[in-house]
Amino acid sequence: MRVAVIGSGYVGLVSGACFADFGHTVVCVDRDADKISALRRAVLPIYEPHLDGMVASNLADERLSFSTDLATAVASAEVIFIAVGTPARARDGQADLSFVFDAVREVAVALSGYAVIVVKSTVPVGTGDEVERIVRELRPQLDFAVVSNPEFLREGAAINDFKRPDRIVVGAEDERARAVMEELYRPLFLNKAPILFMGRRSSEMTKYAANAFLATKIAFINEVADLCEQAGADVQDVAHGIGLDKRIGAKFLHAGPGFGGSCFPKDTQAMIAMAQAHGAPMRIVETAAASNDHRKRIIARKVIAACGGVRGRTIAILGLTFKPNTDDMRESPAISIITALQDAGARIRAYDPEGMDQARAMIANVSYCLDAYDCVVDADAVVIVTEWDVFRALDLDRLRGAMARPILVDLRNVYGPERVEKAGFRYVGVGKGDADAGKPNRVIPLALAG
Ligand code: NAD
Repeated sequence: MRVAVIGSGYVGLVSGACFADFGHTVVCVDRDADKISALRRAVLPIYEPHLDGMVASNLADERLSFSTDLATAVASAEVIFIAVGTPARARDGQADLSFVFDAVREVAVALSGYAVIVVKSTVPVGTGDEVERIVRELRPQLDFAVVSNPEFLREGAAINDFKRPDRIVVGAEDERARAVMEELYRPLFLNKAPILFMGRRSSEMTKYAANAFLATKIAFINEVADLCEQAGADVQDVAHGIGLDKRIGAKFLHAGPGFGGSCFPKDTQAMIAMAQAHGAPMRIVETAAASNDHRKRIIARKVIAACGGVRGRTIAILGLTFKPNTDDMRESPAISIITALQDAGARIRAYDPEGMDQARAMIANVSYCLDAYDCVVDADAVVIVTEWDVFRALDLDRLRGAMARPILVDLRNVYGPERVEKAGFRYVGVGKGDADAGKPNRVIPLALAG
């Protein structure tokens, strides 16, 4: 099939490359001319494992091409994906749909015959109706369909998620469009991916409900972690204990510095705003978002307390991106942690395997380092913020030998206290209460205290 993808960012590029890999002929369009000229040379604007090879091979086989010329790409396409950004509007948290509607207007005037316009961007319920209205207003005689097909891929595992999804959600209002979507995704049926057809509004809602649920799960386990610290329990044991219950599930139960990234913060805000506009407030999601904002502040205080104050101290930060295997720094917890440490008077050294170029543009006055061992030189504490694989088996003796003071703050619970303390460090993890010592601020239930 002939496919045009408008917007060649994370989602557009991964979708375009994967559809080409299935055998479709794909043109990825972007208004950023530098991005397109680099992509034509198979130079990627993002880091995503294995994507460079897939782009290069499909470029070479001429199934994948890149263009700034939206009109030409759209004119010959049977399916047009809209995969542009939908950032949160600063004033009210609602999804900013201006990129979507701009792209749709350009698409509408360029269409030459029946085509399916597929909104892959994450958009509030009713956006598909508005897209349909815009196209009909500009092209009253045109035969077209508007479909919702939200994307659930995770950065860092995007290709696998796209090719082996848990499910494909399609919101289509007519049979012809449904048949086109079935044909497009047919290669995935071989991987037994279930394709769920539903109404367009339900499909739009499914994406927000999925992200809000996952964000809530993270906020929940983070609050359990705080309680564990006070009550002398270990959140990793608790997460294991509840995660094996199939009704709960083990994923997204890792306590840490709070959720970040390009999706959860903005999608929870957008869902909250959408719910308020509909007079059906999502109080649980509101609380999860507020809890996460609060967490970013308390995590920085936790690091400062673990170091016994940071004024004039050097703190080594390992990991800057919001999660491993991406170079995406959007809303990364590292940003608020580093800023708070700097405000408290710390000097920051930092290392991240892929995120340092993006970090340089976002966080000032940081010494960016060559690797983890270079990062900790003369540091008064080392803080693991992102659990990249290269930080999972560090030579702790070498690390300690390079540092001024042996303090390891492990915000992802990559290491346990035993191993790290044996190597001569003071260890601070997340949600690891001290069961034996009894904490000074431990609340003893009345029934036990007597
Ligand atoms: P992105 O910012 O990485 O990329 C968007 C691209 O669209 C940019 O390259 C921009 O130049 C281009 N663009 C904007 N307007 C255009 C126009 N009129 N014509 C051509 N190009 C245009 O965004 P992203 O992270 O890929 O996200 C895209 C959408 O997918 C968002 O709605 C997001 O919420 C959703 N989503 C993202 C992820 C993720 O992990 N990043 C996962 C699932 C869903």
